Amino acid sequence: MNRALNFNAGPAVLPETVLKEAEKNWLNFNDTGMAVMELSHRSKEYETIHHQAISLLRNLLSIPDSFEVLFLQGGASLQFSMVPLNFLTEGRTGNYVLTGAWAEKALTEAEKVGKTFISASSKNQQYKAIPTGNIEISADAAYLHITSNNTIYGTQWQQFPTNARIPLVADMSSDLLSRKIHIEDFDLIYAGAQKNLGPSGVTVVIIQKKLLSESGSHLPTMLNYNTYANHNSLYNTPPTLAIYLLKLVLEWAKGLGGLTVIEQRNEEKAMILYDAIDCSEGFYLGHAEKESRSKMNVTFNLHNEETATNFLHQAKEEGFIGLNGHRSVGGCRASIYNAMPMEHVLQLAEFMKKFKKSN
Ligand code: PMP
Repeated sequence: MNRALNFNAGPAVLPETVLKEAEKNWLNFNDTGMAVMELSHRSKEYETIHHQAISLLRNLLSIPDSFEVLFLQGGASLQFSMVPLNFLTEGRTGNYVLTGAWAEKALTEAEKVGKTFISASSKNQQYKAIPTGNIEISADAAYLHITSNNTIYGTQWQQFPTNARIPLVADMSSDLLSRKIHIEDFDLIYAGAQKNLGPSGVTVVIIQKKLLSESGSHLPTMLNYNTYANHNSLYNTPPTLAIYLLKLVLEWAKGLGGLTVIEQRNEEKAMILYDAIDCSEGFYLGHAEKESRSKMNVTFNLHNEETATNFLHQAKEEGFIGLNGHRSVGGCRASIYNAMPMEHVLQLAEFMKKFKKSN
């Protein structure tokens, strides 16, 4: 079987070795006579998986002890609500930088909880860039929320805002583990796993302990970050299979050489596609402005709609999956997360050149 040329935005391609390892253990995990999803979440075997996943994440991302690593469900979308529910207290204001549709959704959920303020926005530039100007902070700001990589528009923060005065919250759903970050610049990071970390079903939250202590106790149990922190994310049944696969992905990432190697690979892969766009004499048009370009989602269009339709049609016939741009932007998008093999990126670049020549 040939692996698909899978450029899906998420769920996305996973490392083949991870899938093989999971397959090897599918029926009989560690001679237990049980599959991972048949293990009790209170068993020693599962607890080992759980702790290994946390410690691998701590290790790969150099997460200091002053932070908790939590596993939740409900996707990144639940975090849009949990962040304000926990930290947007009476009289304070949630500050948001709008860089795309996911940031807008995060803001919409916060508006249901309390007062909000738009600190910066690139909406009137069709979200082609990360705002470069001043990030305004309101009085009584509870936190500043950003989206580190904008999956739909293909833009990515190259330099994060620094404002030690208020907590920085980042939705890193589509680039956590793709590059080196300094965890202590943030107070809360969240990411749905289904791009760089593993399958859907588990959401990783990295949160500063100091911030946790500010969360109110009035919240429903499962919406309070402290419930997860106080029970090592084992208050109730966690998504055991997703966490097992996350652990395997993290082992794979460590085996590659960690974030230094991963970041370099991602830069190389992105460069190949951006070069194909930039050297096409306007045949392919990148959506994002150069200085805001994402290394995870390469968004582009073709010089006219008919050619774009033909491109997507022909790409599909050649076996490329998931190259359609998000329905709100149109055009094309190649998502090239950590597990996307270099050869598949090269094949896409080759196809782009070939298509241009014949059109
Ligand atoms: N934030 C970003 C940046 C995303 O890309 C996505 C999903 N594509 C989400 C949030 C929503 O994630 P989920 O489907 O896990 O709720």
